Amino acid sequence: MEITKHLFSNLSILIILLLFCLIWLDRSRKFNLSKTTIIIFFILLLWICIQFSYNPVVFARYDLRIIPIVIGGLYLGIGLILVVAMLIIRSFYGIDMGLAGTAVLYIPLAIAYFRLSPWFWKQSSDRRITIAICLGIILGILTLAGMEGILHTSSNWFDAGFAYLVIPPLGIGLIAYSIEYIKKSVEIKHQLIKVEKLKAVEQMGAAISHEIRNPLTAASGFVQLLNDDYLPRHKRREYLSIVKEELNSAERVIQDYLTFAKPALVSIEELNVKNELRQIINILTPMANQNSVEIITDFSVIGFIRGDRQRFRQCFINILKNAVEAMPNGGQLYLETHFSKDYITICVRDTGVGMTPEQLERLGEPYYSTKGKNGTGLGMMVVYSIVRAMNGFIRVESVIGSGTTFRIKFPTITSFKKHES
Ligand code: ADP
Ligand code: MG
Repeated sequence: MEITKHLFSNLSILIILLLFCLIWLDRSRKFNLSKTTIIIFFILLLWICIQFSYNPVVFARYDLRIIPIVIGGLYLGIGLILVVAMLIIRSFYGIDMGLAGTAVLYIPLAIAYFRLSPWFWKQSSDRRITIAICLGIILGILTLAGMEGILHTSSNWFDAGFAYLVIPPLGIGLIAYSIEYIKKSVEIKHQLIKVEKLKAVEQMGAAISHEIRNPLTAASGFVQLLNDDYLPRHKRREYLSIVKEELNSAERVIQDYLTFAKPALVSIEELNVKNELRQIINILTPMANQNSVEIITDFSVIGFIRGDRQRFRQCFINILKNAVEAMPNGGQLYLETHFSKDYITICVRDTGVGMTPEQLERLGEPYYSTKGKNGTGLGMMVVYSIVRAMNGFIRVESVIGSGTTFRIKFPTITSFKKHES
């Protein structure tokens, strides 16, 4: 069984090379290789087949050149190039009867490939594998006939028969199957990417509407207050300026929505925490009143941090809005700040519904919301992303039924440093 043994070793080399090639392709994630690279790879395969062939007599070489020729010809349409390359390579090993036989067998095939390859691609995946295997069997039979019938190179019919009728179709089948499998998974991957992109666009839409809704709700609350005919002039002016500020804020949210994906702080400035929080309370007061929520504050005297004003506001509007929403039947919302040398801690405590440990665990997860249609589950994600971008930390404690406490710590700029700069 010398021929069988040699062809099996040929097959294992081919499969190992193919495996390396696949791993490399997967690593580089580059599936549209240039045609030249592919042709060079297949010529290399042919050379390896011929180099490691079994040649009991000088002019005969038993090897698996059928496999690259069939696969390359059918799948890649490079049959003619491969046949020419193979004849050239083979001629280096002697210009003899074997070479002539190879030419007689493969030149017509190379010409036939021009028709065969386009037709081949119109077939279904399973049929393509079958066609490749059949072509391998036909070539095996013809090679065998040539070798045994004309050249009389082997006396062991069984060995040659087994080697040429089993191994090439087996190798071709394996490789064709892997190609089809990879092709299918690449297609699925592309489809998935498309679906993911669509989903991202949808989510972005949801996020924008969520973040726009906050300032618009506040603005519309003030517009309602403006309806009052007996409103003093100075109040009217104040409300109008808040409405204007809120509308501007909505516009800014659209402009820098991408903060949430990539929390780059745009305009870093020194923020007076107390003043900022007062402004935020102003914005949220109408909503709190509507829900019969009393806002109780206790601010430390000083406290400056570094950050982006717009985002700081967004962060606390989201936290406070959640707190108000957690108290549908009213309650108290405590807002405190504590100042230390290195940190300022902002503490937001509500007497609302609270969260279970599971809910607490999932807090900040994108699109996690327990509010059904009224929630988008983006508010806390934004909060976490902004706090992280400002080098802060968040700690949350919650007891179901009695309330939630958010502690947000930011590094401070001490008043000393402030005056220095
Ligand atoms: P949304 O408010 O749209 O639901 P968020 O990201 O703002 O999304 O909040 C996510 C979830 O976290 C909420 O649905 C709610 O279950 C929970 N949550 C956030 N803040 C509080 C709070 N103060 N009290 C109770 N639950 C809260
Ligand atoms: Mg929310």
